[in-house]
Amino acid sequence: MNQPAIYYFDNNATTRVAPEVVEAMLPFLQEHWGNPSSTYAFGRQLGRSLDEARARVAALVNAEPREVVFTSCGTESNNSALHSALATQPQKRHVLTTAVEHSATLKFCDFLRKQGYAVTLLPVAGDGALDLQRLEQAIQPDTAIVSVMWGNNETGVLFPVREIAAICRRRGVLFHTDAVQTPGKLPIDVRELGVDFLSLSAHKLHAPKGVGLLYVRSRVRYQPYIIGGGQERGRRGGTENVANIVAFGRAAELALAHLREENGRVRKLRDRLEEGLLGSIPGTWRNGAREPRLPNTSNLAFDGVEAEAILMLLDQAGICASSGSACTTGSLDPSHVLTAMGCSVARARSSIRFSLGIYNTEADVDYVLQHMPGIISRLRANSPAADGSAATPAIAQSC
Ligand code: PLP
Repeated sequence: MNQPAIYYFDNNATTRVAPEVVEAMLPFLQEHWGNPSSTYAFGRQLGRSLDEARARVAALVNAEPREVVFTSCGTESNNSALHSALATQPQKRHVLTTAVEHSATLKFCDFLRKQGYAVTLLPVAGDGALDLQRLEQAIQPDTAIVSVMWGNNETGVLFPVREIAAICRRRGVLFHTDAVQTPGKLPIDVRELGVDFLSLSAHKLHAPKGVGLLYVRSRVRYQPYIIGGGQERGRRGGTENVANIVAFGRAAELALAHLREENGRVRKLRDRLEEGLLGSIPGTWRNGAREPRLPNTSNLAFDGVEAEAILMLLDQAGICASSGSACTTGSLDPSHVLTAMGCSVARARSSIRFSLGIYNTEADVDYVLQHMPGIISRLRANSPAADGSAATPAIAQSC
């Protein structure tokens, strides 16, 4: 398949599989394709490869290997954490989370509501920040679990998960964090964070789609979500996706090795892109606080233009970016994250996200900086609000 050159700025949606990761997983597709639960050596010996991969992903988050449950994706990990907390504490029927979580949490909470559970969605401020006093006050005697994401996939805004974990521990409530966007971007230490559950997804860190993990702190009671065979020490039924798990292990090693780069070189690229766009295109605003933020993410609003139109013209130039989360792209609803931050519908609909990664270069950023001003002025010239006054500055600066 011949592919034209692309300028990929959508690393929060998914990432290129690293060549080193492909190399590590190929033997498990071509030669070692047995079932690890088999009694004969051809299958059984794969147990060692699973153990090695488990040790590698455990090292990425500073967990014990036995605290790692491999899942199929971040969505399954989030669902599993909430499900387990409710199933192991049947007397507790309340879940506390935020209005800006990924749909992997929010849609599961909708489902829980329909089952008769109570769910509280905490609001956020205009810059995306969470009020921790309000969070603590919202914990009820029957709160089974607090689930708060670490890095927001749309804005990159970081929540103070260590402080939240401390509140939950003090109040005797389980705490889960959706850390799907953080590996390779921030150091992750589950001991230091003090979380009970933590979700990751391999395709966000240069491994293939179809594998994730749930960290379950030792001594936290666990009820499986996928019930079947005794895989994962009885914590997740289903024949292990050996090739993908091996790939995840290799990607975890690389993510640890690239951490400094992503936090240094990629952050500088992101900042140059963001400052370049803010400086060269009037009526452009950043959504969310400048810091604390994921080092690779920039979410910007362009007054008076529709994000979908910008993305179409970017696509024609070979630039991949997105509006909102990949899972909700295509829906006409404005981003739930931006509206929770108090953005007007007009502003939410004029916002796009650039998310960079280790394969981006200075030349990629130059290319976007070269194309964006022309794209925005073309669209503004054709839009009814051609003077760019669609959003009032007061609203524009508030979220
Ligand atoms: N949580 C966050 C913050 C995400 O960004 C994503 C994916 O975009 C998910 C969960 C879901 O992960 P997966 O695609 O592996 O199901």
